[in-house]
Amino acid sequence: MATVETRSLTKRYDSTTAVDGINLAVREHEFLVLLGPSGSGKTTLLRMIAGLETPTSGDVLVGGHFVTGLPPRAHNMAMVFQSYALYPHLTVADNIAFPLQARHMARDMVAIKVNWAAKLFGIDHLLTRKPRQLSGGERQRVALARAVVRDPVAFLLDEPLSNLDAKLRASAREELQQIQRRLGTTTIYVTHDQVEALALGDRVAVLDRGSMRQLDTPQRVYAHPVDRFVATFIGSPPMNLVGGDHVETGFRPEHFLPVEVFGDDASLERFTLNITRIENLGADRLVYGLLAPPQPPVKVISRIPCTVSVAPQPGTQHVFAVRRADLHRFDARSGASLDTALDAP
Ligand code: ADP
Repeated sequence: MATVETRSLTKRYDSTTAVDGINLAVREHEFLVLLGPSGSGKTTLLRMIAGLETPTSGDVLVGGHFVTGLPPRAHNMAMVFQSYALYPHLTVADNIAFPLQARHMARDMVAIKVNWAAKLFGIDHLLTRKPRQLSGGERQRVALARAVVRDPVAFLLDEPLSNLDAKLRASAREELQQIQRRLGTTTIYVTHDQVEALALGDRVAVLDRGSMRQLDTPQRVYAHPVDRFVATFIGSPPMNLVGGDHVETGFRPEHFLPVEVFGDDASLERFTLNITRIENLGADRLVYGLLAPPQPPVKVISRIPCTVSVAPQPGTQHVFAVRRADLHRFDARSGASLDTALDAP
């Protein structure tokens, strides 16, 4: 049974359609990521699911019951924002206890829950501090602890890691995933960061201008994007695209390698590259270049792992190749994928 569902959910503001007829069924225990660029409608969708925003049309169902138009309490979601929204004058313990006290839970029960949540997030030694005496990572944990004590139907997390530095983000990501698995609470997580989305999600919903373009596992969204938007939004550096009259061809930088790498593999598509620049990233090298005639002079990128010793040089020409099986084809006009692999289950 899906615990959270939206049906043709739409939100219009004057001239903007922020969310445009989204059908989404989040499964019980699932970690679902809403991924899209800024302005694609992620936050508006999340706020409607929480009951903080009234839809223009469509419905929200929680545990199979219609909650459209009902107050946030009826939706029973715990939301964690980017800003954490902690009460500055309250201690960590009181911040975590706040939603329980608001429900008049018995004091000894509140204490048990606060201690449990604080241990879960490794902040039990910080309970007497005020938010200003905490690091960004610690504040984020307090906000998460405050969310879990309420036993919500689902967690709604809106870019909760975006205030952390890169290293902390990676460890916070891992921790968040472990805790979600342990608690089993259905989670909807908003991000514009595709790396985070692929790393965290059981499934990823890709949004563009209020519409959902694809809803699938991270592996399938990456390997079988349904259209040009998903193909280029996910992956860094992005998928290379070479235009044609009717069909556009796409290939990911890691599949586009010096031809020598493939040995006598016969199923190759070859491209001669005028190499303009090399960027050494340690584990990989990024080779930037322009396709040589007769191809149009399209900019493309190859990502060569450091285990490959072939070393193309800037200012030279080199033949690169892609296995045909790794090529993507898109309708040049609509951008829709023409790959048949999409029909597979
Ligand atoms: P995201 O979270 O993906 O960045 P949002 O849901 O915040 O996107 O916004 C989607 C679109 O709706 C944007 O074009 C935004 O400007 C617009 N929008 C969001 N909230 C409001 C509002 N309260 N009034 C008018 N327009 C809004």
